[in-house]
Amino acid sequence: MPAAVVDTFGRVHSDLRISVTDRCNIRCFYCMPEEGGAFEPVSKLLTFEQIARFVQVAAPLGFRKIRLTGGEPLLRPGVAKLIEKLSAVAGVEDLALTTNGVLLARYARELYAAGLRRLNIHLDTLDRGRFEQITRRDELGRVLAGIEAAQAAGFAIKLNTVAVKGLSEPDIVPLVRFARERGFEARFIEFMPLDAQQLWSLDRVLTADEMIGVLREEFGLVEAVPDADPRAPATEYRFANGDRVGFIASVSKPFCMNCNRLRLTADGKLRYCLFALEETDIRELLDGPAAALEGAIRENIRQKWAGHEINRPVFVPPPRPMYSIGG
Ligand code: SAM
Ligand code: SF4
Repeated sequence: MPAAVVDTFGRVHSDLRISVTDRCNIRCFYCMPEEGGAFEPVSKLLTFEQIARFVQVAAPLGFRKIRLTGGEPLLRPGVAKLIEKLSAVAGVEDLALTTNGVLLARYARELYAAGLRRLNIHLDTLDRGRFEQITRRDELGRVLAGIEAAQAAGFAIKLNTVAVKGLSEPDIVPLVRFARERGFEARFIEFMPLDAQQLWSLDRVLTADEMIGVLREEFGLVEAVPDADPRAPATEYRFANGDRVGFIASVSKPFCMNCNRLRLTADGKLRYCLFALEETDIRELLDGPAAALEGAIRENIRQKWAGHEINRPVFVPPPRPMYSIGG
């Protein structure tokens, strides 16, 4: 049994986020530019065989949890085939996918049949006008149909909402109500400086505490759930009837010292942090011996810093925006 992948702060790494494309079919302002965008040529994306090879080497090192993301992962043709391949890799215990839901009505059943069981679906609002304002596309109807199809297919679903001050306040209660009525967990993510247009500022961050206050007022008792998995990024709260809501407070309460994540970009770069300024190109290693690839993974994690510095003047935004890293 190979040794676990541990960084210089003693953090054991077991969570791998794999981006399968940097393209998207909507244009959330906190992620993508309104026009244009620097996309990798399709020929530069890792093939499914290359991704599977990476996972075959990483899983025995302890990377048991895998999440596919993007850009919008359902834009990658045949992504269900990749799911089939990855489900078959020994050591992979948990496979999930994060999507904006636009194409879910088309693909939900195929994804489920391929072995996927968990979906995080991104939904910021139930208001059509605000959806269009945020995403610069009129696709709320397709997202809602996608959510319905995913539920009918049998998926365990979490809803991801990016919370932006001055914008998201009216959506908090309706989204939590929508999630609770359907048996989903709503999760609110604080706005991070990962947007292509550099619109982020600290005063646009709607904090977890502010949102918890809104929910307390509307729904009564909300209490923190003791962390079953301290490495999970979301802090969970419980309503009186046991329903849960999660907060990813990356800005107001960074959880870097619990971070166990490694990212592989669609073009084959390893990143030990969303905000990393350096990355390791592993494309050439995918055809070589496992030992070289394993060495590159360990070395990337060995370089991992204590944590991002979003709240400090020394903070430097990463050279890639969210869609190109893989959230
Ligand atoms: N397109 C898919 C989606 O939107 O779910 C997958 C990729 S997206 C980059 C992954 C997650 O990143 C989404 O849940 C989105 O809410 C989140 N995200 C994007 N930009 C963000 C930002 N600037 N701050 C915080 N979260 C962000
Ligand atoms: Fe697309 Fe997801 Fe980025 Fe929104 S957050 S633009 S859906 S990649």
